[in-house]
Amino acid sequence: MILCMSSSSHPFSSSVAPAARVVSFEEARRLVEQHAAGVCPGEMETVDLLAGLGRVLAEGIVADRDFPPFDRATRDGYAVRAADLAEIPARLEVVGEAKAGCWPEPGVCSVGRGQAVAIMTGAPLPAGADAVVMVEHTALAQGSHANAAKDADAELGFAQRSHTNAAQNAALGWGTLGSGRDTLGGKFVDILRRVGVGENFVPRGAEARAGQLLLDRGRRLDHTGIAIAASAGKSRVQVFRKPRVAVLSTGDEVVEIDAKPGPAQIRNSNSYSLAAQVQNAGGEAVRLAIAPDEPRRLRALIEQALIEEGLACDLLLLTGGVSMGKYDLVEQVLGELKAEFYFTGAEIQPGRPVVFGSCGAGAPARADSEAAAGTRARAPAPHKKYFFGLPGNPVSTMVTFELFARPMIEALAGMTPQRLIFLRARLKSEIRTKTGLKRFLPAVLSGEFENAEVELSRWQGSGDIATLARANCYVVIPPELERIEAGEWVSLMMR
Ligand code: AMP
Ligand code: MG
Repeated sequence: MILCMSSSSHPFSSSVAPAARVVSFEEARRLVEQHAAGVCPGEMETVDLLAGLGRVLAEGIVADRDFPPFDRATRDGYAVRAADLAEIPARLEVVGEAKAGCWPEPGVCSVGRGQAVAIMTGAPLPAGADAVVMVEHTALAQGSHANAAKDADAELGFAQRSHTNAAQNAALGWGTLGSGRDTLGGKFVDILRRVGVGENFVPRGAEARAGQLLLDRGRRLDHTGIAIAASAGKSRVQVFRKPRVAVLSTGDEVVEIDAKPGPAQIRNSNSYSLAAQVQNAGGEAVRLAIAPDEPRRLRALIEQALIEEGLACDLLLLTGGVSMGKYDLVEQVLGELKAEFYFTGAEIQPGRPVVFGSCGAGAPARADSEAAAGTRARAPAPHKKYFFGLPGNPVSTMVTFELFARPMIEALAGMTPQRLIFLRARLKSEIRTKTGLKRFLPAVLSGEFENAEVELSRWQGSGDIATLARANCYVVIPPELERIEAGEWVSLMMR
């Protein structure tokens, strides 16, 4: 739903301030996502794999071989033919050993009828075998294992192995272990449980086939992506350049953090929290000087962020100066710069005065069919730059960043768009609130394992970063609810 208010509703409205356009949370988010779908990431660079952590892939990662590259045992035990286990217990002759890293040559180490090969997790399944029985489900055949552990260890060169280990191995049915040479002749194992064909090994290529795409271009590399790239032999990866995000704090009362604040001054925490959030979202923050509540200097700094070639910023985040106060000049100055505003408020708390728009040539980027289909062929008009005016209250700044600025930074970083998904937990104690706004309230998620419960933090409003720092999530309350009982399920946004 879109609620439009005329600009005359602003008590200090100026002729260049934009007409107010306050939209629902969902509409605001949709607008950002649409515009984000039309932006292009920057150039590419190639970095060492670990330096790629947190970066966005500019290339797809393809399997260079089958995954796994051979039928891979997933248990320590005996490679067998399942058909030999019709009668349980079944006594099988142990004819060899398959250990991880060694290729069991067919003929030298293979499983014939009535035979088994001792096998370790990660080892290739020998020819002839079609299942693995866990060692826990086996026992040494009577008479076949006297001194077997000792013999086997000696054969394997495990001279340093402790006596305890050898005893344990014997107890587990490992007593017949050998190197696969003929020294194993005459050693037997009793199989105590039946296995089906295909049990306890992963067939070659079952996870991925050679040439198959494992990681998409546009994927942000986390430790799982790093593992995939490493497995595919990619010691260097091609990633997109991080988008540069200008951060501009406004307010006569705001001073740099290393200055001694006067009695009515506050330190500029927002530039730092925003820079941290920008970094966390995959961007590079460029902190500008603090803009006073004075239009000329404010305009000069905005122009610096939007236009200056040397800064090469892709996005501007302003904080403060977007509310209804007499000295909230951000929208007015952006209006003078012919900015286009997509919304000038969202029905949320905290963060209602949040502003989203763009400056520069051309019509606004739209989510065209290509963008909707997930491709990114449409570049925004040249020099067009997006901006967000985030409310100055520190918690409002942080929440509105997560809700609206993050998806734009992710898109500029080349990332495939991510959906915003809320989790659910049971409410520990009742919530009473007012209707009309979607609320994102600091809360503590506690409990353990499947029993997560959440409780609102008592806070002093959207300037209260001390309470926020003790919280670990936000409870998301729909605009129509006045009261939520303890024990009910509520939505959460982690922070
Ligand atoms: P504003 O949105 O400019 O009306 O500011 C709202 C509140 O946020 C005021 O109490 C400001 O002092 C505070 N504030 C504004 N900018 C910052 C900043 N950069 N760091 C910390 N607090 C700020
Ligand atoms: Mg201010």
